[in-house]
Amino acid sequence: MSKFVYSFSEGSKEMRSLLGGKGANLAEMTKIGLPVSPGFTITTQACNDYYANREVIREDVILQVEEKLLELEKTLDKKLGSNEKPLLLSVRSGAVFSMPGMMDTILNLGLNDESVKALAKNTNNERFAYDSYRRFIQMFSDVAMEIPKYKFDNILDKVKEDKGYKFDTELTTEDLKFIVEEYKNIYKKELHQEFPQNPKEQLLASIKAVFKSWNNPRANVYRKLNDIPHNLGTAVNIQSMVFGNMGESSGTGVAFTRNPATGEKKLFGEYLINAQGEDVVAGIRTPKDIYTLKEAMPNIYNEFVNITNILEKHYKDMQDIEFTIENEKLYILQTRNGKRTAKAAINIAVDLVKEQIITEKEAIMRIEPNQLDQLLHPNFEEQSLKNAKLIAKGLPASPGASSGKVYFNANDAVKESEKGEEVILVRLETSPEDIEGMVASQGILTARGGMTSHAAVVARGMGKCCVAGCGEIKVDEFYKEITIDNLIIKEGDYISLDGSTGCVYLGKIEKTDVELKGKFETLMNWVDKYKKLQIRTNADTPRDASVAIKFGAEGIGLCRTEHMFFDEDRIPAVREMILSKSLEQRLKSLNKLLPMQKEDFINIFKVMNGRPVNIRLLDPPLHEFLPHDDKAIEKLAKSMDMEVKEIRKRIIDLQELNPMLGHRGCRLAITYPEIAKMQAKAIIQGAIEVKKTGIDVNPEIMIPLVGEVKELKNIKENVIDIINEELKKSNVKIDYSVGTMIEVPRACLTADEIANEAEFFSFGTNDLTQMTFGFSRDDANKFLGDYLNNEILEKDPFQVLDQNGVGKLVQMATKLGRSVKPNLKLGICGEHGGEPSSIEFCYKTGLNYVSCSPYRVPIARLAAAQAFIKNDK
Ligand code: PEP
Ligand code: MG
Repeated sequence: MSKFVYSFSEGSKEMRSLLGGKGANLAEMTKIGLPVSPGFTITTQACNDYYANREVIREDVILQVEEKLLELEKTLDKKLGSNEKPLLLSVRSGAVFSMPGMMDTILNLGLNDESVKALAKNTNNERFAYDSYRRFIQMFSDVAMEIPKYKFDNILDKVKEDKGYKFDTELTTEDLKFIVEEYKNIYKKELHQEFPQNPKEQLLASIKAVFKSWNNPRANVYRKLNDIPHNLGTAVNIQSMVFGNMGESSGTGVAFTRNPATGEKKLFGEYLINAQGEDVVAGIRTPKDIYTLKEAMPNIYNEFVNITNILEKHYKDMQDIEFTIENEKLYILQTRNGKRTAKAAINIAVDLVKEQIITEKEAIMRIEPNQLDQLLHPNFEEQSLKNAKLIAKGLPASPGASSGKVYFNANDAVKESEKGEEVILVRLETSPEDIEGMVASQGILTARGGMTSHAAVVARGMGKCCVAGCGEIKVDEFYKEITIDNLIIKEGDYISLDGSTGCVYLGKIEKTDVELKGKFETLMNWVDKYKKLQIRTNADTPRDASVAIKFGAEGIGLCRTEHMFFDEDRIPAVREMILSKSLEQRLKSLNKLLPMQKEDFINIFKVMNGRPVNIRLLDPPLHEFLPHDDKAIEKLAKSMDMEVKEIRKRIIDLQELNPMLGHRGCRLAITYPEIAKMQAKAIIQGAIEVKKTGIDVNPEIMIPLVGEVKELKNIKENVIDIINEELKKSNVKIDYSVGTMIEVPRACLTADEIANEAEFFSFGTNDLTQMTFGFSRDDANKFLGDYLNNEILEKDPFQVLDQNGVGKLVQMATKLGRSVKPNLKLGICGEHGGEPSSIEFCYKTGLNYVSCSPYRVPIARLAAAQAFIKNDK
């Protein structure tokens, strides 16, 4: 028989996949002698078994739970449901990877109409006993029986209103007894049965509810967002209750061993006196700073600080610790590696290396590459910030700067963001149901809740800017407006948030670029020590190129020349070129374009200062450049001295049924060699000019969409002729190369032939994915969502390289290409060049570089270093 249930004393932190994070750490803390209330864990395997068994808990799991329960009762000399010495339990979920707030918890289990009296007698605290009972009824009904929570909240609020109380702590024993009866009535009304008095029945239903919560919608969304596999299951932790709601010498709280927003090495936390866990997170009462505990309960404070130090050293990472104080006795309820912002992650990792707790390589592995994205985006621009109107200040819950239109619920936020709006989600307080709205928003503002409220924790995890607990604003979610004194902000109005200061501003504020400084720079220097792949950037303008260099780019991997033609002052010349009736006419318009292109290349070469610059010859279907509205057509006809009718006919001629597979890429240069020649001339003339000023240049000329070596050969000959002519004229020596993109499956299959003519390959995995799957790049999003929802595909293959299919073609082309030219230079310039798992694949395949958008360069550098550390042990 498999073992499905482990006492805390039987486990350890290494058993995470079986016991879940919480269970493994409770066991570990028990092992190292920290004050943990005893209990046991039902394994994740039991949860998976429950799903495999058509959502029925197997008899042997139940038997093992009963056995462990008996042991627990013996240890504590208490009994579940006893009318003399009742044992009360907490039942909490605990997945392998932490999913804060996404799954369910039930506290105070074991209370019924009789045991509540015994609890009152034994603790000499009747108020506490009934407070616990009403909490249990509500939690059990909500979590296990799915009776909406608000039905219970309404009763509680009504009693408080009738009696003129502000806080729950003002409720008297009689109030609580009344509330308990009312709660039981709701239960009966909703389910047509009495609230269960049998604690074993309560326990079984609660275990089931926790198993079920693994599959609730918010947990599913969270897993998708965080790349957590759906088949891991959750463990269930069943633990003897300790009570933070026993009066003034009890309490409960949460603390991080370092600041999770900044990384500062200073305890950071909050607690509430006379409360249970959910009160802190729910943000109903404003918690106190952990440092005030020093005065309130000095011994407990010292003991707690000592434990936080032990835990951080033990786990070698910043810990997020939950604790409860029951009548001046401290218990640790949970420890885990704390969620943190990107800034904090970097600061903590670098500090831990300096404190000699971890190595440089460990520090590099601690940072999630995509998380850096938070740091690579602009802050508020100083002058624009000075002119902005500060309207309120809340807690700086998650750093960053964001502007957007306010919306008051998750649905509206999602809807508006899908329309392309920048959105700020404004809520009284957030709950896990808001998660999709939070994802869709630029920033989150809440009126209630502390630094560990749901909004704060989740926003930090997502790297979203968040201002929480902004008590100065009145949020009316029904009428969809915010009031601050006399100011009313309505749905759709712009506000701006600074998540680092907690400031809320009226209107939109301009933003500026960021720089890599301080500990970020230290980390990136370590990264460069370990990474083997070069990181280039996809850039078409000198501005993009200089941003990328600032972020550490080592060259340009793709300069899309067609992007240089879209400017308003260039498009007429491009249109003339396309619509030309004769070669002569086309050459005339190409001559107009030549100086413009040359100027672009000069500026890019200057910025790149000798680094390789890979320039791709014209790629897209020509009709993309053509005018569609009457006015533009008339204007063009005039400037080209042609009839409007003639122009229209030419536009129709150029239209294609399947442009992505049509007259584009190298096919254009086969039909119109003069275009490729003009571009080659512009490149080489630009290079010569820059070289003459003493700046080194390193152009790579790339021919796109090749599927047959003779395409490449044909165009290459034209390009080289022009280059040689220009070089001869100038007497300047330029180190240049000519190569190709590999983005057509046939190019992969015949890569050995192609390698004979190419000095480099650059994998265009956007088109290669399109043509390998046969999914149109322009239309795939219409159905890819269904593929992902039905788990036909795990990831969008246009974002994450499909290693099984497209990846095999990349490997084949690498092998074939290098069989002809062992030193063939290989890179990737599709979107995948900035995606961490694809970067690891490129490293393992033996590519020389990856190329990505400027803002992803640091992410790619980090991912490249991680790929090396992971694979070259
Ligand atoms: C590619 O196809 O991967 C590529 C980089 O080129 P483009 O996206 O411009 O087609
Ligand atoms: Mg392409």
